[in-house]
Amino acid sequence: MGIDLSDLRKLVDVCTLCGSCNSSCPVFEIELTEPYSPRGRINLIGELLKGNISDNEEMRELISVCLFCGYCQNSCSKGVDFRSIFSGYLSGTIHLDKD
Ligand code: SF4
Ligand code: SF4
Repeated sequence: MGIDLSDLRKLVDVCTLCGSCNSSCPVFEIELTEPYSPRGRINLIGELLKGNISDNEEMRELISVCLFCGYCQNSCSKGVDFRSIFSGYLSGTIHLDKD
């Protein structure tokens, strides 16, 4: 189960990396570093999909601390589907495709 890899790419590509969503994220509010922001997480997954970085425990930890609260999604004018992107990543879609 899980999202198809090409669909995951399309969802990630909607993000323009504007950063408007960052201030809505309760995790970012505590950590105050880009990798813990919604944009940072989307960007990490995008770079992984492009093959520019490799998946690792640190990245999985960064994504898995997302509360799936949806505040970032509500504040994004582009309608980036965070829940599907993060759950797609956590479901192992990227691993499965690369193996
Ligand atoms: S998810 Fe939306 S608000 Fe956040 S950086 Fe991407 S385009 Fe901007
Ligand atoms: S869904 Fe995740 S990334 Fe978005 S605001 Fe909530 S904790 Fe932050």
